[in-house]
Amino acid sequence: PGLLDRLSFEGGRPRLKDLVVHAVNGVSFSIAKGEVLALVGESGCGKSTVAKTIARIYDPSSGRIRIEGEDITDYDHAKLLPVRAKMQMIFQDPFASLNPRQKVRDIVAEPLLQQVGDGARAEVADKTEALLARVGLNAEHGGRYPHQFSGGQRQRIGIARALSVNPGLIIADEPVSALDVSIQAQILNLMMDLRDEFGLAYLFISHDLSVVHHIADRIGVMYLGFMVETAPRDQLFARPRHPYTRALLSAAPSIRPSRMTEEIELTGEVPSALSLPTGCCFRTRCPFAWDRCAVERPVLQDIGDGQSAACHLIDEPERDNQ
Ligand code: SF4
Ligand code: MG
Repeated sequence: PGLLDRLSFEGGRPRLKDLVVHAVNGVSFSIAKGEVLALVGESGCGKSTVAKTIARIYDPSSGRIRIEGEDITDYDHAKLLPVRAKMQMIFQDPFASLNPRQKVRDIVAEPLLQQVGDGARAEVADKTEALLARVGLNAEHGGRYPHQFSGGQRQRIGIARALSVNPGLIIADEPVSALDVSIQAQILNLMMDLRDEFGLAYLFISHDLSVVHHIADRIGVMYLGFMVETAPRDQLFARPRHPYTRALLSAAPSIRPSRMTEEIELTGEVPSALSLPTGCCFRTRCPFAWDRCAVERPVLQDIGDGQSAACHLIDEPERDNQ
């Protein structure tokens, strides 16, 4: 473990088949070793696209992806193989991502076997058994098939599989969204224990602020393919600045700060990524929008203490009278 020093990503326009969608625009961030960066936003905001682009499941049409300073943006399948040992992905629905005809021990062993080759089968078998135990399963479970497990257990299998190659970074796309709340807590606790034990970094994708509240060191809020606010976790919850972040917090009474009394209700639909609003991407739903917002796209501005937001209210705070 501990392969990852720093990963940086600058998003461009991921090419999905023949359709070029401006799914992600100028999203740029880095993740330090051992850090948990959460990307939050409603579905369609581009957070999964970012995850899959970093994992090189999608190809970016511009921008660069670097892991430990190594630029992997243009790597082909063969060159990506050793990179897979540095970053692994876990998915929302582990059932869909686990081969139903493969025994659990083979599912868990597969990424490692790809790295070390068939000659090391005995060592891989030992490691697989240890990993199953570490995530709360046992050797007997290794002989079963995915459908014989509950959703939470299947996510444990997905985590064991990801861990098999000692990655520095795990990209987790809505890893607990399909689970009951009580099971969610178990899986999040397991992920945090593993972070401490193996020095893992996570890129944690979620639509749910109350989930990332538990685990994130830093949070990026995305809307329509743009990063609209980023801040250390406590800072974001104590002093959200972007109207979209404030609207998300308004809708999450269990985690919003008690002194935050404003109610910003999100109305209307998220516009299509194919026809972005001019100016600010959020203006069609923003209660503060004024004429400047229609003509000028706000850029992320540093507002101190590691927080940045993309909103014209930062320059004209007197309009912030909600
Ligand atoms: Fe709202 Fe304007 Fe800020 Fe966009 S720039 S979030 S429209 S106030
Ligand atoms: Mg998604």
